[in-house]
Amino acid sequence: MSVPITADRENEVVQAAPTQLFIDGEWRDARRGRTLEVFDPSTGRVLTRAANASPEDGWDALKAAEAAQKGFERTPPRERAEMLMNAFRLMHERKDDLALLMTLEMGKPLAESYGEVNYAAEFFRHFAEEATRISGGYQTAPAGGSRFLIHKQAVGPSILITPWNFPLAMGTRKLGPAIAAGCTSVLKPAELTPLSMLALADILREAGVPAGVVNILVTSSAGEVIEPLIRSGIARKLSFTGSTPVGRRLLEQCSEKVLRTSMELGGNAAFVVFEDADLDKAVEGAVLAKMRNSGEACTAANRIFVHSQVMDEFSQKLAERLGRMKTGRGVDEETAVGPMVDARQRDKVAELVEDAVRSGAKVVLGGEPAAGEGYFYPPTVLTGVPEGARMWSEEIFGPVAPLTPFDDEKEVIDRVNDTEYGLVNYVFTESLNRALRVAEQVESGMVGINQGAVSNPAAPFGGIKESGLGREGGDTGIEEFLETKYIGIAM
Ligand code: ADP
Repeated sequence: MSVPITADRENEVVQAAPTQLFIDGEWRDARRGRTLEVFDPSTGRVLTRAANASPEDGWDALKAAEAAQKGFERTPPRERAEMLMNAFRLMHERKDDLALLMTLEMGKPLAESYGEVNYAAEFFRHFAEEATRISGGYQTAPAGGSRFLIHKQAVGPSILITPWNFPLAMGTRKLGPAIAAGCTSVLKPAELTPLSMLALADILREAGVPAGVVNILVTSSAGEVIEPLIRSGIARKLSFTGSTPVGRRLLEQCSEKVLRTSMELGGNAAFVVFEDADLDKAVEGAVLAKMRNSGEACTAANRIFVHSQVMDEFSQKLAERLGRMKTGRGVDEETAVGPMVDARQRDKVAELVEDAVRSGAKVVLGGEPAAGEGYFYPPTVLTGVPEGARMWSEEIFGPVAPLTPFDDEKEVIDRVNDTEYGLVNYVFTESLNRALRVAEQVESGMVGINQGAVSNPAAPFGGIKESGLGREGGDTGIEEFLETKYIGIAM
């Protein structure tokens, strides 16, 4: 990792990366021969072209998943666990290439890409361990006589849709439990970052995952390709990670054939710093909650509430800390903040900052997009952001920290909950009672107490309200891919 990345090394990794569709265990060009361009967001230049699926390719992928389903669900759980463990090991063996490829197509600093490869692989290890623990039950009916046998079965072929911000981990978080439970799948990565998932397909094949069990479709026509597959009813499950508006539309499509759904949607996380918080810890927590993935995460702190007694000290410390973070290409070792994924994302961040400043916010650090090539936006700290500013209700998805003061615990809880989202909130206080009291009252699927990150493959990740349905990871993640069958037995 400490060896500088040369242009030759970048080229070598891109040239070696698979770019075709992966259907029924084979690499194929798209039937209509279409391709799409994959860009390096740190330069705006084309890295390579990837096959671009049309609806016919979508059908091929779903038919392959359907054909493989019955056989795959009958494989011994131990065999499925071993496939996942093989893939876990192969990901570690190839981490240098996987991390560099991810940085090139998505922009995040290389150290964060290594972190994601590791995190992504952990989902395979976690679900390898879960695969052999799928359990059922046997019980006497309350009135005596008959018996209940409770049996868990694979849901069936699944459609998995992932976003660009964590190009590998959002895929393994779905593929891990699907494979463990015995479900085949059609996975559609985001068109901005398809290469990581295609590289993973190669690893899954080598790991012994049979043909048709995992199919990867890259397309720039997501709606046109995916909607007929959902409406066909052949797939029995949709697991989606992305924005709330798209998730809502997909839920409607799923209602026709009543598909099982898991939805990881948008967030609007609050980060609350009480007057009794350890401020250095809170600043480090805010750096993590705000700057991880350059702010391009649904768990990113989107609204930072700071008690008025500690506002000056906290905002100065945060600005000083963020001011030291260098923006640059992810492959450069000193880079702490990579580019935004594309021009649209960079412009959206700039627009939200302009809107906040127009509404009365004060710029303490940053505040202007960087000039030159690539889609860079520097770390930015804003104070006095009024609640009417757009960034208070919209996901920023960039390295912008908006701060606002509060005075009272009850008041801040009400303000934290004043959003349609409910993914995660962060609470910083040295009082255990207060931490638990607030954690219980904030409306979110997850809470970080004195920590700025909550993601862990062994914990149930997910949101409430318009942030989603279902949980990924933990011991509930596999349940999302299992049906419960009750068999009544007369005695
Ligand atoms: P983001 O704003 O993070 O790009 P999106 O919700 O637009 O979030 O995208 C998340 C994933 O959903 C991507 O893989 C994208 O291609 C896919 N997607 C977007 N629109 C649709 C759609 N109509 N049908 C199926 N998938 C879609």
